[in-house]
Amino acid sequence: MKVLVINAGSSSLKYQLMDPETREVLAKGLCERIGIDGRLTHKIPAKDAKYEFEIPMPTHAEAIQSVLDALLSSEHGVIKSASEIDAVGHRVVHGGEKFASSVLITADVMAALEECIPLAPLHNPANITGIQACEKVMPGVPMVAVFDTAFHQTMPAKSYIYALPYEYYEKDKVRRYGFHGTSHRYVSARAAAMLGKPMEELKIITCHLGNGSSVAAVDCGKSVDTSMGFTPLAGLPMGTRSGDLDAGILEYLMNKYGYDMKEMMNILNKKSGVLGISGVSSDFRDIESAAEGGNQQAAMALDAFRYGVKKLIGAYAAAMGGVDAIVFTAGVGENDARTRMAAASGLEFMGVKMDAEANNVRGKETVISAPDSRVKVLLIPTDEELMIAMDTAAIVNG
Ligand code: ADP
Repeated sequence: MKVLVINAGSSSLKYQLMDPETREVLAKGLCERIGIDGRLTHKIPAKDAKYEFEIPMPTHAEAIQSVLDALLSSEHGVIKSASEIDAVGHRVVHGGEKFASSVLITADVMAALEECIPLAPLHNPANITGIQACEKVMPGVPMVAVFDTAFHQTMPAKSYIYALPYEYYEKDKVRRYGFHGTSHRYVSARAAAMLGKPMEELKIITCHLGNGSSVAAVDCGKSVDTSMGFTPLAGLPMGTRSGDLDAGILEYLMNKYGYDMKEMMNILNKKSGVLGISGVSSDFRDIESAAEGGNQQAAMALDAFRYGVKKLIGAYAAAMGGVDAIVFTAGVGENDARTRMAAASGLEFMGVKMDAEANNVRGKETVISAPDSRVKVLLIPTDEELMIAMDTAAIVNG
């Protein structure tokens, strides 16, 4: 079976054609500058080949068509006919309270996705456009929506309710939703497999640390709490996002500098996080080299981020009444041994004992805690595309 996985953004679109059974990625790539001019980067992992094209992409439909053309090309294609694509899996950011799992896309589902737009005004419209473009270019191919929020729909009310007047939840659906759900679900399942235990017997804390970061508490295979909130702005300090802060700061800064809400949100989303503290970069590699060179603010940014992860680990262990495994994943979690060490050290009191040598590793599934650590600490590269392809195959095959 071949599944095309699509992750559509407002001006970009990532794709992977893969076989969810063998897990082989036949081709993958990226359309950029949709609506501006159009650029396609197409890769064939088996040949270690990369191709770049300038193709006009006034809308997402031309972008999808260019992806199909690339997949079918006699020079750099991987399939002979479009009919070889059995299904399409779409990443959708927000499923609100309507979707607690992936679904086959129907007219009713499309209407429900439209209803979720106010909850994710920057992301859902692009995801919907991507689905519509596929319907146009590949009519009749079954499509599945896989939501970033779905995995966290199992959170109990005490985790998702904000201490605001209840009407904002009832009427306006203001609550914690959480994001990165596909990643938290994938790595927690892999963790259970690595430990050789059923999910139902495990309490796992999954730390998805990338440009955007979130931590989740996964009890018996179900997300019971997570650090992102109503939007992906909440929780840890991120590359450029502030994470949690005292809402009173908004009023103080807006009054003092005359910012309007748009300017304030731009500061919180684009100029804050480790970039804001360090003044150096949003990329952890740049911040680490600045810190090594003696930059105090860079060191402070790293400390604040790592301390934030550690606090969440402690909080979620308390929330679940224990923890069997801690998982690190995504760009920082998979590659940055020092962040993993700092976040998981000093936790011996709760049975976490890191192994510095085992932790000196990048991007592969490994145990990085000491052999006698009661809590296993794991490095597990995330694979959201594989999860999307697997869900798509499972739903389409009934
Ligand atoms: P996104 O949230 O955009 O999907 P990723 O999960 O791809 O982000 O993570 C990207 C981030 O990973 C980069 O911004 C960088 O800070 C970090 N990163 C990648 N490699 C390393 C490394 N070797 N050391 C530290 N950080 C790294």
